Amino acid sequence: MLLEVKGLQAGYGQIHVLHGLDFIVEEGGVTALLGANGAGKTTTLRAICGMIRTEGDITLRGERITGRATEDIARRGLAHVPDGRGTFMELSVEENFRLGAYVRSDGEVRSDFERMFEWFPRLKQRWRQQAGTLSGGEQQMLAIARALLLRPKLLLLDEPSFGLAPLIVQEIFGIMRRIRDESGVGILLVEQNANLALELADRAYLLETGRIVVSGPAAEIREDESIRRSYLGY
Ligand code: ATP
Repeated sequence: MLLEVKGLQAGYGQIHVLHGLDFIVEEGGVTALLGANGAGKTTTLRAICGMIRTEGDITLRGERITGRATEDIARRGLAHVPDGRGTFMELSVEENFRLGAYVRSDGEVRSDFERMFEWFPRLKQRWRQQAGTLSGGEQQMLAIARALLLRPKLLLLDEPSFGLAPLIVQEIFGIMRRIRDESGVGILLVEQNANLALELADRAYLLETGRIVVSGPAAEIREDESIRRSYLGY
């Protein structure tokens, strides 16, 4: 098992946001975490990567990581693409790539760059351009590419479709499909766009006010009209 979460509780100061979540993410697949605004999706990702006070058991590839420092968790194979993206706006695409790979000492960085160009051809075209001048979609692509250059085992993606036009969202989901099929990285995907996320994911969890209310194979959740109506609003 790539990630196993048991009894996860987390919050901010006196505010409890997550009330005991249990879920798993399997190797090499996509797991979607869905739910309305404020359900606690972003908070769940922050808890996993050690950014906020957390209780419960979070196990990454068999090692308990609850309460560890963010850098320590990252070193164990976790990369996080936060909402708001986390690229260095004043640096070029190339410099962002190099920063993504800087902790690596293996000789495969160059071939990984080539792989990123295959998945994200737009970034190759904009190699010398400052990240802050990229379109929103291109910035999202850069953030994902940068995270993948860390060679993570698990990638946490927070709303990659946020604020983007439908065509670009389709493009990004197309790229994520290739990453799922070709990279072996496990992805935990937080999304408002439930329909698209369920198409991409193998498994899904639906969060409501800090509790998981539905879980199962993504295909089954997609087909379930009552779940769609009650929780997904389509
Ligand atoms: P959205 O899709 O709107 O981002 P979400 O499901 O990701 O929603 P969270 O961002 O995890 O939800 O927020 C869950 C709850 O935690 C909300 O009630 C929110 O107000 C609260 N919250 C989030 N960040 C903070 C913070 N830094 N300080 C205090 N409360 C916070």
